[in-house]
Amino acid sequence: MKLSEANLLPGDVCNTTDQSWIGKSIKWFENIWTGNATMTHSFIYIGAGNIVEALGSIKKNPITKYDNSQVIVYRVPLTDAERQALSAGMLSLIGGPYGFLKYPLFIADAGVTWLKSLFGNKNPCFFFSDTFGLPGDPVCSQLVVEGLYNFTSYRIKDAQGVIDEWKQFSPDYLNDELKLPVNHATVVFDSFPQQSLKAHLKDVFLGKAPMGAKRSGQWPTFRKHFLEGKVCAVCGGTNKLELHHLQPFHTDKSRELDPTNVLPLCEGNPAINCHLFFGHLESFKSWNINAVKDAALWAEKIKTRP
Ligand SMILES: [Zn+2]
Repeated sequence: MKLSEANLLPGDVCNTTDQSWIGKSIKWFENIWTGNATMTHSFIYIGAGNIVEALGSIKKNPITKYDNSQVIVYRVPLTDAERQALSAGMLSLIGGPYGFLKYPLFIADAGVTWLKSLFGNKNPCFFFSDTFGLPGDPVCSQLVVEGLYNFTSYRIKDAQGVIDEWKQFSPDYLNDELKLPVNHATVVFDSFPQQSLKAHLKDVFLGKAPMGAKRSGQWPTFRKHFLEGKVCAVCGGTNKLELHHLQPFHTDKSRELDPTNVLPLCEGNPAINCHLFFGHLESFKSWNINAVKDAALWAEKIKTRP
C-alpha cells in the first residue's frame, strides 16, 4: 500500500529514510554518535492529502511525494480539536526558515551528550545549539515536535518519564521516543522492509516465532545497537548473546522495538542456555513473565556462590 492510500489523520507523525547525499551524511554523523541511524527526515500530516515539512524552508507538500519512500507513521493521542488546531497552526508556519545550519551544532551537542552518558551523566547538552544556534529555526524533526507542543497538549517523554525539549530531537531520537510505551504512539503505517525470508524461516525452524509473525525490518539495527557493551543478565557471558523479548514480539507487535521490553540473555553458556531457560522456561513457544526478576536472582546467586 502506498502512503497516500493509508488512512491518516491530521497530526500523524511520519519518519522516513532516504538515499540522497544529505540523507546519507545525516545518517553517517548520527551513526558516529548514537550507533543507531535509521531515520533521516520527519514530517507531519495535516489532512487533505498534505504534509508540512522543514526542508530548505517550511513547506506544504502533497503526501504522494513519499509514496515510494520507506516511511513509518505514528499516531499520537490527540483530540479532534487538537488535530484541527495543529493543522491550522502548521499551515501558519509555511514559508518560515529552516534550521539547516543547526545540524552541525546539533551533532556537536549529541556528541557531548553521548560522552557525558559514558560517565553516567544523562542530562542532554545544548551548549552548541544555545551558543551558536538560531533559536527560531527548527530542523525537520524539531518542527514536528514544536508543532505538537505549540498547538496541542501532547508532550513526548523519555524512558524516565521526563518531557523532552523540542530542540533535542533528531529524526532517530523522535523515532526512538515514539516507541516508548509512555508516549502512547501507535504505528498506523510502515513501509520499511520486513525481515528477510531466510532469517524468518530460521526463527520459525528454531521455534522462536510462528510462521505468520515476521519481525520488523528495523529489528537487526535495534538489536545490534541495544546489545553493544551488554552481557547476559544471568551469567554475564557475551558468547551468542541474544536480545530476549519479555513480551514476545508476535503477541504484541507494538512492543517489538520497545527498549523496556527486552533483556540480554545468552545462548552460549556451556552449563545452560540462559535465553531458552530463563527467558522461555525451556520452550521458545512460551515465555517467562518473571524473566527480569529471575535473571537478577540467579545472577546474584552465581556471583555470591560459596
Ligand atoms: Zn548466559
